[in-house]
Formats: sequence, C-alpha cells, structure tokens
Amino acid sequence: MKASRYNHIVWRRNLPQLLYNSWHHRFLELDNSQSAVYGGLSLPLTYNLINQKDPSVAKLMAGLAKMEFLIDDNRDELKQIELLSQLHRFDRSRLELWICPTTRCDQNCPGCPHQDSRSDLSALGLEKIFRLISGRTPGLKQLGINWWGGQPALAWKMVLEFDKKLDLLARQFGFEYSYRTIGSGGGPANRLTALSRENELYLNIESVDLDNLPAAPTVLLGDIAGISKRKDQLPRGSRIRFIKNIPGGELCRNVNQLCHSAPNLEDEEVGEINRLLEAGFTVENLPRPKLVSCQATDPQSFIIDAAGNSYKCWEDLGVPEKMLAENTDDPLAPQNFRWLDWDPYHEAHCRLCNILPWCLGGCRARPPDADCSQWHYALREMLSLAAAANQKGA
Ligand code: SF4
Ligand code: SF4
Repeated sequence: MKASRYNHIVWRRNLPQLLYNSWHHRFLELDNSQSAVYGGLSLPLTYNLINQKDPSVAKLMAGLAKMEFLIDDNRDELKQIELLSQLHRFDRSRLELWICPTTRCDQNCPGCPHQDSRSDLSALGLEKIFRLISGRTPGLKQLGINWWGGQPALAWKMVLEFDKKLDLLARQFGFEYSYRTIGSGGGPANRLTALSRENELYLNIESVDLDNLPAAPTVLLGDIAGISKRKDQLPRGSRIRFIKNIPGGELCRNVNQLCHSAPNLEDEEVGEINRLLEAGFTVENLPRPKLVSCQATDPQSFIIDAAGNSYKCWEDLGVPEKMLAENTDDPLAPQNFRWLDWDPYHEAHCRLCNILPWCLGGCRARPPDADCSQWHYALREMLSLAAAANQKGA
C-alpha cells in the first residue's frame, strides 16, 4: 500500500489533526499516535519500519485503505482522474448553456458594461439556441440552462415561451432539464412566474430584499465584506457564493468571475469566511474536487450573449475572433480547439500537484502560473476552510 498523493494534513489549533484527500473530498480525524503512524506510512522510506502487525496499526491501516487514504501500490490515481475527467467532458448526453436573454437592468452599477447598449436576445438568436439543443437529440439526457444578464427577470416573457418549447422537446426525447437564473434580487426578480422545471436563483445580496426572499432555492452572491455585513439579516443556513461583485470587461457584476471555483483570499477574509461557516452558512465556492476545470474547458458548455453569439470562456465575450462559428461543435475550429486540447494531466507541474483535483489546471485565461500560485499560496487557508465547512456538514 502507499499513501494517496492527494492526502493532506490539516492542522487545527487545539483539535486533533485531520487527514484530508483532495480527490475524494474525505476527512479523517487522527489522534496523536494515529497521526505518528500515518506519518510513517506516508513515506516510502519509513513505511516498512511501522509494525503493521500491531492490532491498532492494522486497524488504522484498514480504515485508511477503506477511505482510500492508503491505496494499492500499482494504482495510478492521476490516470484514473484523467480517465474519469475525459469520460465526463466528452459525454454528449449532457449540455450546459449560459444564456443572456437581456442586458436590460433595473440596477445602476458604476462601470456597467451594458449601460449604453441595453438589448434583448432576438427571436433568431433564441431559435439558434433551440437548434443547438434539438441537434443534441436523441441522446441528450441532462440539460442545464443558466439565464444571466442584465436582469433576466426583465425578459421573463421570452424565458417562459422558451420554456414551453423546451418542455415539448423534452417530452418528445425524454431528457431532464433544470434552470438557474443569475440576476440582481428584489423588484422583478421577486415576481418571477414559475418555470416548468426547478429554477435555482443566484441573487445579488446588494439588491435582494432580505425580508422577502423568494421561495425558490436561492444562493446569495456578494463579496466577502458585503455578505459578512449582512449576515445577521440572513436566514440561518443560507447558501452564499463569493464573487468580486463589480462589473468587469463585458460582464455584469453578477457573473464577473462567477466561473472561478474559489475566491481570492486575503488573510483577514479567511477569518470572515470561518465566521460565516460558524454561523451555519453554506459557502458554495470553497475548493472541491471536480472533473473539469471550468465552463471553457467543458466541451458541453456554451456561453451565449444577448447578440446570440456563442463563446467558451467568459473573458472572451465581445471579442469577435473568439466567437464560435455557427457549428459550435467543430472540434478543429481554433476558438474550440484552444479549449478542447486542455490537458493538465500532461503538464509537469500539474502531474506532481497534490491539489490537482481541486483546480485541474486552473483558469486558462490567466497567465500561466498566476492561478496556480494563488491556489498554492492560500493552500493552508483553503484546507482549513474545507475542514471547517465539513465540520458544519456543508
Ligand atoms: S452591472 Fe449588472 S446589475 Fe449592475 S447595472 Fe449592469 S447589468 Fe445591472
Ligand atoms: S478559462 Fe478562466 S475566465 Fe475562462 S471560463 Fe474558465 S475560469 Fe472563467
């Protein structure tokens, strides 16, 4: 047996050490003697010096093996993750669309990229999206639609009509689908007519009416300070997600950096997040293992703006040469190929990295290593937050 390369020790003040595995996202508390034994087992040099016939050692080893902290010597975890990831990526029975029905909005954020260009997705644009979905049938099993804007609630009539057509298509071909609507809360977002399928709401904490939260499953978006400031007003157990909460490039504040799987952390923010976890909130964007790094490297994910143009990466929106051609599935089109050839499993530093399952090569839109060093710089903090969230059952 050998220790999984994705094991980590989480040191906690006045508490037993935790063993954590970043692939299986499992935790195991170790007392002092177990921790010393594990220390010996985790190094090839000292592995054989541990008396494995000792009943307490044998019991610990059986537990570690059961939870895959210890694995068979011949097992190549990197290859296994690569295989599972590629099966997931190229599984055409799933499809995820990020559609902007409108850039109109009832907010007035400084720096809004849509300030002078409010527009709705045209009927032709919607038709193109519908063709993309029906082109995947039969075979499509799971479709996720994410409405973003602007304020999608202002184009709800369009969304309702689209939903009706989709419902018919789903009945005909037997696929499941669900929605997520990302917008500013309050006003029209509070009066949405229900869709035919579950519609999870991502609402901005700066504009949501906290005394009148919608009944639908809701995640509150905000920066760490903004959420912390309002924590006493939030229902216990609220789901929260950290975003930068300022507009960026072509993106509304509600979607700017929403694709990043963990917040950028300053030291004092770790304390704030810990307090939010302590208070019983569920933080949606703490590091977790995943099978694809982000929407851009997921071949089954497409972002469609209000002009009806499709992109792979949020950073590419509005850049004509990054736009996907009409046949979004052409793998050799340069705009697609750039993301399809994503392969952290053959990057030297990713192959050796013990948090690869969290980051999977990170954000390809950022300069090489910028994302990577950020993860490693804050690794101790990320591990402590993952442990705190686990302790709270989040
Ligand atoms: S940044 Fe977003 S929420 Fe703010 S005004 Fe623009 S579209 Fe509306
Ligand atoms: S490559 Fe980076 S910016 Fe682009 S979608 Fe992925 S995480 Fe977002």
